[in-house]
Amino acid sequence: MNRVDYLRISLIDRCNFRCQYCMPEETELDYILRQELLTYDELLILLKEVFIPLGFSKFRLTGGEPLLRPRVVELVREIASLPQTQDLSMTTNGFLLKSMAHDLYQAGLRRINISLDSLNQETFDQIIGTFGRSRWQQTWEGIQTAYQVGFDPLKLNVVMIPGVNENEIEDLAQLTIDRRWHVRFIEFMPIGNAQLFSHRAWVPSEEIRQRIRQKWGLIESSIQGNGPADVFQIPGAKGTLGFISQMSECFCDRCNRMRLAADGWLRPCLLNETGQINLKIALRQGIKTSELREQVKQLLEIKPEINFKQRESGTENAVYNRTMSQIGG
Ligand code: SAM
Ligand code: SF4
Repeated sequence: MNRVDYLRISLIDRCNFRCQYCMPEETELDYILRQELLTYDELLILLKEVFIPLGFSKFRLTGGEPLLRPRVVELVREIASLPQTQDLSMTTNGFLLKSMAHDLYQAGLRRINISLDSLNQETFDQIIGTFGRSRWQQTWEGIQTAYQVGFDPLKLNVVMIPGVNENEIEDLAQLTIDRRWHVRFIEFMPIGNAQLFSHRAWVPSEEIRQRIRQKWGLIESSIQGNGPADVFQIPGAKGTLGFISQMSECFCDRCNRMRLAADGWLRPCLLNETGQINLKIALRQGIKTSELREQVKQLLEIKPEINFKQRESGTENAVYNRTMSQIGG
């Protein structure tokens, strides 16, 4: 059984982008009210008195867009300074990184994953939604700033969408040749967006690898990490290529994580709501953290049976109403 020591913490469900696969513009979303967000004090209590005593030592801040949460730099500083924190990372769309990367680094953040689905301005805007002026340039500058500030590893997350950015596989892979960047291709998941891209749901990782292999060759990397990505490298490249294949393969047996949503729901599995508990409500009801620790411990014990391939409906075609931005992808 895999040791579960990694908590993904969603700080907010709101976002300054509306990526088609995550928060489609045509979908009305019920945002979490400010008073329903887990406060930083509550989060730190949960980390110190519930998760860390249970062996959690790796934390990732995500969202929605985590950089939209006020005082996020302060939170980074608090979590980074906990002696038990072995790893603190963030997943962001990068739009605000140009002005925030330096402060985040100073506060103790060292690892960052930035979403970048396209190098082409028009395709990028088509994917993230239209906001008048293109947001590509500022996002790209945010990535460059993070690199200059010293974030290492710097990972770029690419969701491959059939017929939209599929033609950029080689261009995106090429970014890893001269830079120590790690480009990760993620299979698009039909979560809260089932009506989209129906002609072909996702591009299988093996198809992407095949295209890269044909152009440059591809070798398995010695750096495999302990996450869901299978890591490869173009021979001689400085960076790596990761493939997250949750649709074409099952990696539940490698799962080492739980997810804490911005309103306090703790989920044992991305796509299976079995067993989830609301830690914020419990805290506000005055339930002792020793009792919450016991509840989370029990959830950890049943986690191996709650997994992605045994989703609630038990079918491969289940429809999910919560979007990734709400779950904290
Ligand atoms: N806003 C931040 C960002 O985009 O990086 C963090 C939150 S976002 C929900 C986290 C990750 O989930 C991103 O890399 C995004 O591309 C991915 N994601 C969102 N919806 C997805 C979907 N339907 N299928 C696969 N990945 C998805
Ligand atoms: Fe926002 Fe990230 Fe979702 Fe895109 S993937 S809409 S950037 S939360």
